[in-house]
Amino acid sequence: METKLAVPIAAKDLDQARQQVNAAISAGAELLEFRTDYLEGLSAEMVKNLITYVKSAGDKRLPIIVTCRDQRQGGAIGYEQQLRVEVLVCALKAGAEFIDFEYDNFIIAENQEPIQQALSQNPQARLILSAHNFETKFPDISKLHRDILDVCPDAIPKLVYAANHINDCFEAFDLLHETSGDKIVFCMGEAGLISRIIAKKLNSFVTFASIDDQSATAPGQLTIEQFKQLYHYDDITSETKLFGVIANPVGHSLSPAIHNACFGEKSMNKLYLPLLVKGGQQEFDSFLHNVIERKWLNFVGFSVTIPHKQSALEFAQANGDFVEPLAEKIGAVNTLIIGSDSKLIAYNTDYSAALDAVTSTLGIDRDGLRGLSVTVVGAGGVARAIVAGLSDAGAQIHIYNRTVSKAEKLAAEFSCDFAPLDDLMDMNARLVVNCTSIGMHPNIEVTPVPQECLKSDMAVFDTVYNPAETLLLKQAQQAGAKTIDGISMFVNQGLAQFKLFTDTDGSAELMRKTICDSLLKE
Ligand code: NAP
Repeated sequence: METKLAVPIAAKDLDQARQQVNAAISAGAELLEFRTDYLEGLSAEMVKNLITYVKSAGDKRLPIIVTCRDQRQGGAIGYEQQLRVEVLVCALKAGAEFIDFEYDNFIIAENQEPIQQALSQNPQARLILSAHNFETKFPDISKLHRDILDVCPDAIPKLVYAANHINDCFEAFDLLHETSGDKIVFCMGEAGLISRIIAKKLNSFVTFASIDDQSATAPGQLTIEQFKQLYHYDDITSETKLFGVIANPVGHSLSPAIHNACFGEKSMNKLYLPLLVKGGQQEFDSFLHNVIERKWLNFVGFSVTIPHKQSALEFAQANGDFVEPLAEKIGAVNTLIIGSDSKLIAYNTDYSAALDAVTSTLGIDRDGLRGLSVTVVGAGGVARAIVAGLSDAGAQIHIYNRTVSKAEKLAAEFSCDFAPLDDLMDMNARLVVNCTSIGMHPNIEVTPVPQECLKSDMAVFDTVYNPAETLLLKQAQQAGAKTIDGISMFVNQGLAQFKLFTDTDGSAELMRKTICDSLLKE
C-alpha cells in the first residue's frame, strides 16, 4: 500500500472534531487519526459517534485510526487504562480500520486480551503497536521492531523518536529500507523533519500532517499544505531523487520552494529538502558520509550555506574530490554534486550569480568588468565571493567594512584597497555593491551608503533580497542610478545550481515569482 498522509484529529469536543474532520478532508487527507485522548469527558459512545460521522462525511470515506494515547507516551489527558482499552475495542466494533495502542501496554495481559478478542471479531481491522521516545533514539530500534512482531506478527509497528540531530534520522531510514512488512517509522523535532517527508519514498505505512500550524500533535509536524504545495507529496515515489540545502538555521531558506517549483514545472521526479545540519565540520562530514554510504536514498546534490560553506570545501578537499578552482580561492563551496562513483564535485555559484546579475543589468559581458571601479561594502562571506569574482574579472575594488581588520584581510588576499565604512563619503565608483545585512527585513529603514554618495552614472547592487527594494535601492533610483536587486543574484544562483543538479535550465520567472510569493507570506 502506498504511504497514506494521515491527519490527526485532536479536538476537545465532538463539534470541534467534526470541524477538523471536514477541514482535513478538504485539505486532502488520505487517512484520519482520532486522537481521542484530546476529547474532554471521553466515552466509548463519543468515539462511536465520531466514526459514524466520518462514514457519512465527504464523497470518499477515509480510513480511520483510533488512538487513545497514554500520557506517558505523549497523550493529552490522563485517562485510565481501562477506559483507553474500552475506547479502542468500541472503535473496532464501530468500523475503524486501525487502532493504535502502546506496545508497552499491549504486553500486559489484561489489556491484550480484550483487544485481541475485538480484533478477531473484526478481522478487516489492524492493530498499530507503537513506541515513542520524546528524548532521543531508541537503544536498539531493530530489536524493538522484532520484539513487536514477535508479540503480534500481524501488527503494524510504529516507532517514533526524537532526532536531536539530522544524523539521528539514518537509523529510521535503515529500518524502513532493510525490513519488509508494514511499519511506521519517523523522527520528531526539527532535526527529524525530513523523515516525515521521505517516509513516502521509503514506504512507511503512513506519515502525519497537521491541518494547520496550531493543530500539530507532535514536534516537527508539517502542515498538509506544506506537504502538498511545497514538497509535492503526491508526486513522491520510491524512485524520487533527493536534493537539499545544508544549513543551520534552515527554516527560512527559500531554496526548497524555488527548486521544488522548478522540478514540478518540468514534471521531474526530484525533491528538494531543508537539511538542518547543526554543529561544525565533524557533524557536516558525518551527514555527508551517512548520505553517500546509502546510495538507495538517491541523494544527488546539495546547496550549502551558512555556516557550512568552508566545511564543504574541506570535506571535498580531504576526500580528493573535484573542486572548482575559484571556489578554492574563495575558500567556500555552496554546491555539491554526488557523482556516479560517489565522488563529489564542488562548486561555488555565488560569485557567478552576482557577476551575471551585474553584467546583464549593465548590458556588458564579463570582459566589460575589466578596469571597472567597484565599491564593495562588507567583508563577510558574500563580499568574499563577489570580491573574488570581480577581482578574477579584473575590476578595481575598494572594500569598506565596519570591522576594518576584516576589510584589510580580504583586500590583501585579492589585491584590493580597503577603508572603514565612514570613508564611504569619499568613494568614487561606477558600481556599488552592498554585501552587508544592513537594510534587511525587519530593519528596512537603514542603508549602508549615505544618500549623498549616490550618483546617476553609478550602478548600485544590493545583495539583500528581503525586501527586494531596499532603502539603498530606492535612494539609488532617486539619484538616477541603475539598480540591481538581491533577488536577481538569488535567482541566478538558484538557476546555476538547478543546471548543475539537472543538466537543464530552470525558469528564472518562476524562481523570482516563488521568492516574491514566499517573502510576502513571511
Ligand atoms: P556575514 O558573513 O555575516 O557578513 C556580514 C557583513 O555585514 C559583515 O561585513 C559585517 O560587518 C556587516 N554588518 C552586519 N551588520 C552590520 C551593521 N549593523 N553595521 C555595519 N556592518 C554590518 O554575512 P554574509 O553571508 O556575507 O551575508 C551578508 C548579506 O548578504 C546577507 O545579510 C544577505 O542579505 C545577503 N545575501 C544575499 C544573497 C543573495 O543571493 N542575494 C545570498 C546570501 C546572502 P563586520 O565584519 O564588521 O561584522
